[in-house]
Amino acid sequence: MNSSDRRSDVLVMVPGVMGAAPDGAEAFHLAAIDSPQLLVTDFVATRGDGVFETLGAFDGTLVNVRPHLERLTRSAAMIDLPAPDLEVLTAALDAAVAAHEPVRELTVRLSLTRGVEGTDEPTCWIHARTAEDYAPARAGLRVITLDRGLSTTAPATSPWLLAGAKTLSYAVNMAVLREAQRRGAEEVLFVSSDGYALEGPTSTLLVQREDRFLTTPVSVGVLPGTSVTSAFDALRAMGRQCAEELLTPAQVKESQGAWLLSSGRLACPITHLDEVELPVDRELTARIGDAIAGRS
Ligand code: PLP
Repeated sequence: MNSSDRRSDVLVMVPGVMGAAPDGAEAFHLAAIDSPQLLVTDFVATRGDGVFETLGAFDGTLVNVRPHLERLTRSAAMIDLPAPDLEVLTAALDAAVAAHEPVRELTVRLSLTRGVEGTDEPTCWIHARTAEDYAPARAGLRVITLDRGLSTTAPATSPWLLAGAKTLSYAVNMAVLREAQRRGAEEVLFVSSDGYALEGPTSTLLVQREDRFLTTPVSVGVLPGTSVTSAFDALRAMGRQCAEELLTPAQVKESQGAWLLSSGRLACPITHLDEVELPVDRELTARIGDAIAGRS
């Protein structure tokens, strides 16, 4: 693509997400961001029924593509959607990034829905746009704990509640952020009904206890984070021990530091959890952030 053709907001529709595009159409194509692309009878519009992924691209390079696509496949399976074609999605993601004007940080969102009622054909699209300015969040977050209302046994006892699936029904995840703002904070750490720290509404918890780095076990119903995997790889290369371990909010409050990790916002240190101030290691935060962005 000619660089003058590059756009600031890119939409790629992916009719071939399940392998064969209907009526011999191309597997994916660039589409106009400012004109309607979805039918009101798409199950995502009527029921929020679908799954998604948000990837980061840093200096034009997408990070952790395969882990994100594998997690999309996992989320799709959890809501009984067929497995998407990962080769088509990989090519479509590359096309979306290539079509965007060069920027340092790009947010690339891939959505897969149950499709239009009665068709049995999932709808899929990719939206790439310049990332918002995450500098304030990366400097530190005031976080409050909020009850998620689900126990750590929910995945085993009630898998239909979809704990740990990245579904497009994120209204609750957004509602808790508004609740945080009402209470003078910026972010939320979900707590299970049996009293354990879980994850943020769009992020994974990382905690330093003495010399060990800990995150919430995926088995209790949190999303398996791609960022925490990158962070653990970097920390292990630095000789640090990393593990999945359940912690109470009280243990997080007496830790040597805690972060909320995610693919776009990278590593955000928690400066306060409820009213308790936590230590912040800026250099380590930057190193973890670089590892998540694929810069180290
Ligand atoms: N947990 C939840 C609920 C999320 O929505 C996200 C990302 O959006 C994460 C954790 C972090 O995942 P990742 O590190 O793959 O971006």
